[in-house]
Amino acid sequence: MTRKTLTTTAGAPVSDNQNSLTAGPQGGVMMQDYQLIEKLAHQNRERIPERVVHAKGWGAHGTFTVTNDISQFSKASIFGEIGKKTDMLARFSTVAGEMGAADAERDVRGFSLKFYTDEGNWDLVGNNTPVFFIRDPYKFPDFIHTQKRHPKTNMRSGTAMWDYWSLSPESLHQVTILMSDRGLPPSPRFMNGYGSHTYSFINGDNERCWVKFHFKTVQGHKFLTNGEAADVVGQTRESYQEDLYGSIDSGDFPKWKVFVQIMPESDVGSTWYNPFDLTKVWPHGDYPLIEVGEMELNRNPENYFAEIEQAAFSPSNIVPGIGFSPDKVLQARLFSYADAHRYRLGTHYESLPVNAPKCPVHHYHKDGSMNFMGQQSGNPDAYYEPNSVNGPVEDNSQAEPALAISGAMDRYNHRDGNDDYRQVKALFDLFDDGQKSRLFSNIAAAMQGVPQEIIDRQLVHFDAVDMAYGNGVRKALGA
Ligand code: NDP
Repeated sequence: MTRKTLTTTAGAPVSDNQNSLTAGPQGGVMMQDYQLIEKLAHQNRERIPERVVHAKGWGAHGTFTVTNDISQFSKASIFGEIGKKTDMLARFSTVAGEMGAADAERDVRGFSLKFYTDEGNWDLVGNNTPVFFIRDPYKFPDFIHTQKRHPKTNMRSGTAMWDYWSLSPESLHQVTILMSDRGLPPSPRFMNGYGSHTYSFINGDNERCWVKFHFKTVQGHKFLTNGEAADVVGQTRESYQEDLYGSIDSGDFPKWKVFVQIMPESDVGSTWYNPFDLTKVWPHGDYPLIEVGEMELNRNPENYFAEIEQAAFSPSNIVPGIGFSPDKVLQARLFSYADAHRYRLGTHYESLPVNAPKCPVHHYHKDGSMNFMGQQSGNPDAYYEPNSVNGPVEDNSQAEPALAISGAMDRYNHRDGNDDYRQVKALFDLFDDGQKSRLFSNIAAAMQGVPQEIIDRQLVHFDAVDMAYGNGVRKALGA
C-alpha cells in the first residue's frame, strides 16, 4: 500500500520526522528547524480547560425517532410526523470528578443531548435525576465548591458536603437519590435521563403549556453497590467508556423511550409545590407521562476530542415550539453554560463541526478569534442590520405568546414555607427493604469522618422525612 506523505500543517512535504536539524552530530539544534518548534508548540497546546463540572464524559451520536403525535402541545419540527428521525448527540458525565477520574463513582450523571433539528439545534442539558441540589442559582458555585477539592488538603471533603447539605434542606431530595441505588449506575446505558427543569411548549396556535422531559432506559435499571464499584475501579477506571463504546461498536445500540409531562399554563398556582422548583418533581399521578419517541445511540465518535470533548451543550439552545420557564436555576444556566463554552472553546464554539447546526445559519456576529467561516449573514455587504442590501431579517411569526409575570422586585427567601420533605417521603416509600438498607449504609459510608454536630443536623432532616429514615442511618452509623 502506498503511504501518504507526511506534511507540515501548511501542506509541504516533511523530509525527516526522526532527526532534528543540528550543527554537527552532537548539536546544538538549529533555530531553523521550524518543524521541531511547531511540534513542541502544538504539544504544549493539546489541552483546553476541562469543564469545571462534568469534566469526565462519554458520548455517542444517535437518532431520535417520533413515535407519537404531540403537535397539540408543540409545533417544534423535531416532533413532526410519526416516524420522523433527527440526528442527535449525547454526552454523559459525572459531576465532580476531573477528566481522569474513575467512571464508577457515586455521583449524579450529566445527560446532555443535542438534537440537530431542521430549525436549529435544540440542547437538553439534563441529569440522570429529575431534581437537583439547589433551587436558587446563587447556590450553584457554593454547592459545586463542596464537591470539589479542599483548598488546603487538595482532597474532597465529606465534611464540606454534609455541612452544606445539612444547612440546605432543599438538597434532601437529590441527596436521597444520590445515596440510593440510582446514584451509582454501572454504565450510562442503565440509567434514565431527565430534562429536570420545567420548560415550555408552544403549539401551532401559539398556546403555551409547561413541560418536563423524561428519557427512560430501555436496557433497564442496574446499579453497583459501593463494594462492587470499588472492585470495578480496581480493575478499570474507564468502565463507562468501555461499556458504551463497546456496546455501540458491537452493534448493540442503547435506547431510551422519550416521554413528556404536560402542565396547562393555568395550573401554575394550583399545585402545593412551585412547578418551576428544580428540587421538585411533578407527580405522575397528577401529570402522567405522554410518549413522544425513542432515542437510539448508534455511532461512536471518530475522534473523542473533536466530537465529545468539544461538544458544547447549553440549555439556551432552543427551537421554535420549545421555550424556557421562570425556573430560577434554568434562567441562570441559560447564561452560564454558553459562557463556559466561550471560555473553554472560544468565541466561535458553535461553528465547530460537532456543534454546528445542520440547517442554514444567518447572523451578524462579526470577526473574533478563530473565525474560519467568514461573515455568516449570507451576504458580505450585510454586516449590520437593518440594511437595504437584502441581509437576513427577523421572523415575527416565531414570537412566543406573552407570559404574565407578577410580583414586586425583591430577594425572596426560597426556603420560607417550602416543604422539602414530602416528595422525599414519596420516594422513600417506593424503596423496598433492600433499597432502604443500601441507602442507609451508603449515607453512613459517605459520613465517615464528618463531625458529629453536622451529622446530627442532617439526621433531623432524615427524621422529618420519616423516623425510619433517620433511625436507619443512625443504625448504619453504629450509633
Ligand atoms: P411514581 O410511583 O409514579 O413514580 C416513581 C418514580 O420513581 C418513577 O419515575 C421511577 O423511575 C422512579 N424511581 C424509582 N426508584 C428510584 C430511585 N431510587 N431514585 C430515583 N427515582 C426512582 O411516583 P410519583 O410520580 O408520585 O413520584 C414519587 C417519587 O418518585 C417522587 O417524589 C420522586 O422522588 C420520585 N420520582 C418521580 C419522578 C416524577 O417525574 N414524578 C421521576 C423520578 C423519580 P422508573 O419508572 O424509571 O423506575
